[in-house]
Parts: sequence; structure tokens; C-alpha cells
Amino acid sequence: MVSLSKINFENTYANELNAICERCKPTSFKKSEILFKNYSLAEELGIDRSFLDSDECLGIFSGCIISESSLPIAQAYSGHQYGNFNPQMGDGRAILLGEINKRDVQLKGSGQTPFSKRGDGKSALGPVLREYVISEFMNSVNIPTTRSLLAIKSNESVFRDEEIPGGILTRVANSHVRIGTFEYVSYFKKNNLEALANYVIKRHYPELSETNNKYLSLFAAICDKQSLLISKWMGIGFVHGVMNTDNMLISGETIDYGPCAFLDEYNPSIYYSSIDRHGRYSYKNQPAIMVWNLSKLAEAFIPLIDSNKERAVSKLSEVLNLTMPTYQEYFYIEMGKKFGLKNIDEEVINLINKYMKILEDNNIDYTLSFRDLAKLLSNNKKIDLTVFKNVKDFVGWYNKFINLSSFKKSSKDKISKEMDYYNPCYIPRNHLIEDALKNAVGGDMNEINLIAEILKEPFTEKNEYEKYAMPSFSNERYVTYCGT
Ligand code: AMP
Ligand code: MG
Repeated sequence: MVSLSKINFENTYANELNAICERCKPTSFKKSEILFKNYSLAEELGIDRSFLDSDECLGIFSGCIISESSLPIAQAYSGHQYGNFNPQMGDGRAILLGEINKRDVQLKGSGQTPFSKRGDGKSALGPVLREYVISEFMNSVNIPTTRSLLAIKSNESVFRDEEIPGGILTRVANSHVRIGTFEYVSYFKKNNLEALANYVIKRHYPELSETNNKYLSLFAAICDKQSLLISKWMGIGFVHGVMNTDNMLISGETIDYGPCAFLDEYNPSIYYSSIDRHGRYSYKNQPAIMVWNLSKLAEAFIPLIDSNKERAVSKLSEVLNLTMPTYQEYFYIEMGKKFGLKNIDEEVINLINKYMKILEDNNIDYTLSFRDLAKLLSNNKKIDLTVFKNVKDFVGWYNKFINLSSFKKSSKDKISKEMDYYNPCYIPRNHLIEDALKNAVGGDMNEINLIAEILKEPFTEKNEYEKYAMPSFSNERYVTYCGT
């Protein structure tokens, strides 16, 4: 597959869906250097470790060398952005080099493409490093996500409000087909709709290829994957920030880490993005937005389902209507795991809801709360040293919690351990990442390197890293920018 100095791309998208992509070449950044390289992901892809240290590697992923086997393309897509349809989008600053081991390998920030419009097709270094660290964290906590193979400093400037260092990310995904890809095809290239759907089935849902209603089953499978994904975002306290339909992958992986952030204190109404004026993409809105986005996918699917439009709509609606209940089920399973509980019943659901209310009313740090709860169970911490100190209602809640039937079948100690396997001690704390990125962009990678290391093992608490488990002490609301 991949030998020491040779890398082999397959190009199924370029070859099979050439009507909905454009051939193009990455810009070559001749002075670039690698800041992060991901040996374990390389291994998953079947790329030799030593290849990542080679000049050829830097050459390929900085756009200086085009591998013989690669047919680089930019993919066309549309998107509903903040609720408004934008038919003409596409990879304006990303180029797909091809697939390795069935996974897309894409350069983000590698210069203009036919879809760049007036943009420069480039990325600033800060957001490249941020995406590398956060996407790899998501993978460490088992949340489906695009991965990051390399973060490269281009050593050329990009011009935003000011001149700042540029970067290129090598992004790896099961594929980059988006809800917006279906919207594009349904809007401009209806004749290619079946080809796209068949491609997706072949690549992601091969078990559906022989079923009777394969396109309806495909729609249901995509809804299911999205529900699972969003339940996991909610569980970890992740606010994506820009859930436009062009940023939702059909494969059910998290993509686009521009304005995302993590909850510190539990506030379900929180949103961070500077351009999300009305909180459309707030933490608590994410499940409803997921369904909204899937309704746009359903519209694109209509011709695939039935030649009679009314019948098609009715079939798709039936599936769509099941999505929120499915999500709810996944959500409580996810939350149950956070409490070390496997059996979810009415009583457990009520207790979970009550717990969230206590967190919200008392501005308690979401992530720390689960670690502290586990410590209380194992008698490792007195309540006065936890986030629950002086919290009205908590003791009453706790007594109900430890009287659940799960505690009769298992022990407090065991449940405490299970909680710690499931609830990270370390998350990408907004304030820490921000400071570390400032240093990194200024040339000092020490802090961001350390954070990236800590986040590789987010469940293992280490005394010397206490600071990295702590929320910010500032009362100011954290704001993220769609850093490009
Ligand atoms: P995003 O915010 O990454 O989801 O991007 C939204 C759209 O804007 C996508 O179609 C991108 O390709 C495009 N875009 C973002 N930044 C740039 C840029 N610097 N140059 C060209 N296109 C861009
Ligand atoms: Mg995007």
C-alpha cells in the first residue's frame, strides 16, 4: 500500500463523481515546516512512521509535491447558513488529495480553488493548530470526528484584519460528503442524485446496498448517525457553533472546528460564536438544529424516494419524526454512562434532569462536576472540597442517586471508577487553549504541545496538571471567531 517513501492515493470521488467537483492544484508553500504530526493516525492509515519525518511528506502536505497517484479536487456543495440557502459554496480553501486506506486526505488552507470566490483559500496558523488539538481530543474521548494528520506552518503571511502567520491542516475523514453536497446535487445536478447516494452507500453504509428501500434506509441511517453524534456532543459539553448544513457530514463525524468551544459552568443557553447573534447554535439548540438540518437533507432526497412527491414526503417525514425520540434515547444512554449507570428508566431520567438543574442553578462547572461526583462516591474527597460545597439540594439528590438499584448490583467504588473512565478530567479549556495558541503563533509551541499531550489521555488525572483541569476564573463570556 504505502512504502517508505511513496504514498498511494485512491481517487474514487474524483473518478466517480466528477460532475460535482473541480480538478485543481494546491498552492506550494516552499518554506513550510511541520508543527504537529500524528504518528498514531498515520499508522491507522497504513503510512509508515518514518514517512512523516521525510522531506517527501512535508512536500506533499505543503502542496509542493503532487503525488503521482493523486487527483486533487475541490468538492462542490451548497449549504443552509444560519437558516439561509446558499447554493454556490464548495471547498474554497480545501483540496482533497484523494483517499488513503478508504479515508479522505484533504489539505485545508492550501490556496485558491475554483470555489474560492474572493477568498484567498488560505488558513491562519492559530485555527489550524486549534483544529488539530480539538479534533484529536474529540477522538480521544471517542466522539466521531475528522482527524488531523499534520499541522503545518506555511511561513507565509495571510491577510485578515492584519498580517498573520498562515498554516495548512491535513484533515482526514471517512469522507467529506455533507448534507450540503446533497443540497447542491438536488439543486443543480438532479441527474447525479442517485450516483451520489450510491457512492455514499458504497462508502459508508454498504449493508444497505441490497435492501428494498435503500435510499429511505440511507436517510434513516444518516439520521441515526447524526443523533448519536449530537448526543455525544451534548454529553461532553461541546458547542459546535456553526451547524450549517454544509458543516454536517453524512458519515456522522464532527467537522469544522472554527468557532466551537466547551462548556465550563453548565449553562444550556450558552453560545460562543461572535457571528451567532441570536444563539441559533447554542448548546441546548443543537438537537433541534440537527433535526432542522436533516429536514433539508430530506428535501434533497425526495426524488430518490418516490416519483410521487407527496408519497416521498410522507415516507421521509415518518423517518424524520423518529429522529428526536431516537436522539433522546441516545442522550440518556450517554448521560447514564456519565453517571456510571447502564439501566435507564424514568427514575434515572428524572434524576439526571434534576442534576442538570442543580448545575445550572448554581453555575457549577460541567466537567468537574462528574469527576467530583465520582470522588464523593469513592470517598476520595469531602463534599466541602468539591464543586458541590454549600449547594442547596445536592445532598438530597445524592442520597437518591446512591439509592438507585444500580448501586445494589454494583458498588459505589466500581461506579466511581466507571464514571472516571467515561468523564474526562481534562477538556480543551477555552482560556488555556487561547493563551497557548497566542504563544504558538508567536513561535513558542511549548504550552500547546503540553496541552496536546495532556488531552491525549484526558481520563487520567495527574496532580502536576491540576491547572489544566480548572475552568477560567474570569467572569467574561468567552467569544470565538470563525477564524479562517
Ligand atoms: P467554513 O466557515 O469553514 O464552514 O467555510 C464556509 C465557506 O467559506 C466554505 O465554502 C469555505 O470553503 C469558504 N471559505 C472560508 N474561508 C475561505 C477562504 N479563506 N478562502 C476561500 N474560501 C473560504
Ligand atoms: Mg465548513
